[in-house]
Amino acid sequence: MYGRYGSDTLNKVLLWIYISLVLIYTVVSLFITNPTVSLTLWLVYTVVDSILVVVILFRMFSRNIQKRRRENEKFCGFFRLRLNKFRDRKTHIYYKCPACRAVLRLPRAKGKHAVICPRCKHRFEVKG
Ligand SMILES: [Zn+2]
Repeated sequence: MYGRYGSDTLNKVLLWIYISLVLIYTVVSLFITNPTVSLTLWLVYTVVDSILVVVILFRMFSRNIQKRRRENEKFCGFFRLRLNKFRDRKTHIYYKCPACRAVLRLPRAKGKHAVICPRCKHRFEVKG
């Protein structure tokens, strides 16, 4: 697989979603007796699972490594930010700079405070 992207966190998550869907569909299909509902469920399951497999294989065999890496970083960054927000919820607040949209981690304090964005030097007020 030289020159191909391979697997990453996003692909592993997609693979687990795929495996979960297979298991859920298998269990749910055992309890459905109505043929119309069963057919509709099978159709939806087949389409969603096929799309997942195509996306997983496309990402694994992609030669555009930079683009795949950026997708993975975006995906991991989304969860990392939420995890950090939850971890720091008592000591810090996360605030987006109104000028450049950078996410700032500010110490939690009562009252209004002036903040200067370290990226764009924009000055704005934050309520603590
Ligand atoms: Zn800014």
